[in-house]
Amino acid sequence: MCLWRPVIHQRNGSANLFTMKHNISIIIFLLLVISAQIKCVAQQVNEIKLKDYRPKSIYKIPISNIPKAKYPVIDMHSHAYANTEAELAQWVKTMDAVGVEKTIVMTQFTGAKFDSVYARYAQYGNRFEVWCGFDYTGYPKPGWIDHAVKELERCFKVGAKGVGELGDKGMGELNSYPVPGYGLHFDDPQMKPLFEKCAALKLPVNIHVADPYWMYLPMDSTNDGLMNAYTWRIDLTKKGILNHGQLIKTLENVVRDNPKTTIIACHLANCEYDLEMLGSMLQKFPNLYADFAARFGETAPIPRYMNAFFEKYQDRLLYGTDMGVDPSMYATTFRILESNDEHFYETELFGYHWALHGFGLKDSVLKKIYSGNAKKIIAR
Ligand SMILES: [Zn+2]
Repeated sequence: MCLWRPVIHQRNGSANLFTMKHNISIIIFLLLVISAQIKCVAQQVNEIKLKDYRPKSIYKIPISNIPKAKYPVIDMHSHAYANTEAELAQWVKTMDAVGVEKTIVMTQFTGAKFDSVYARYAQYGNRFEVWCGFDYTGYPKPGWIDHAVKELERCFKVGAKGVGELGDKGMGELNSYPVPGYGLHFDDPQMKPLFEKCAALKLPVNIHVADPYWMYLPMDSTNDGLMNAYTWRIDLTKKGILNHGQLIKTLENVVRDNPKTTIIACHLANCEYDLEMLGSMLQKFPNLYADFAARFGETAPIPRYMNAFFEKYQDRLLYGTDMGVDPSMYATTFRILESNDEHFYETELFGYHWALHGFGLKDSVLKKIYSGNAKKIIAR
């Protein structure tokens, strides 16, 4: 722009002619540069990778900042994130600030490891519950189940208040430490004494089956959740692996076969693509609950459906996080549940490329999912 200024201030005619010619050549030069730059930008756009896509909403619409939940919260799905006393003390401060009165810490441990984690969190009394795993030592030799049941009783005596997070992504229970389940699916009859013992000791069991459905779909340009789907993709060519539907069936079987055991299907049973799969199980089995931990990003694209789902199953859904201890993480979960905000991004937290929308849950539903339903489970 400043190149025009000398022309305006020239008074001599010939000098003006020279300057005009000079400026025309500058303009032509600039046009060439600009067109080259446009081509360059176009090329860069064509080279943007989905994983680098970070759109920013342009809409001038309400933005809610909800650092503290509207009602007291019991976080039913967390893990032993604090590695030091200082980190644990900071976590408790964060819980106070964001309105979490109690956190369920699912260690997945048994044995000495469970005992040491339990001791650390027990310092804070009822601010935490510490849950254990199962111990599969000796499987498949005869007697392994007796040992497993004994270890469960021992963890209970130490202070375990539940079991979890157990997990089966197709090849059997894999989450317990130090000994995973060696291919045992939850509906395997060999597992039954453990689930019965959980009922007898009033230990709820948190179960993860499968993974979101995108992880099972072709890894191509049609995959809606491609970025996360690729990271967590399921290899269905593995010998003996169960597919998504088969895994959901194992959940249904174990819930049906153990009516006295309270079972929490975590992550909405990974049925977010067809939530009535979970809904029909909730209708059939009163001993089944579901947490929606780490499924905020997956469900926030469909807020009106989610609002109706929460309304319909308001007595069976449980707040959980499963995403660390950062105050901003909690705030994002509250924003999605409580606000009617539209078209916002949390790509770093959730990993997806799509925009999110608040569910705008009503107060009576919020009270139940934040702590009312959890209290029914943890009142023993
Ligand atoms: Zn988890």
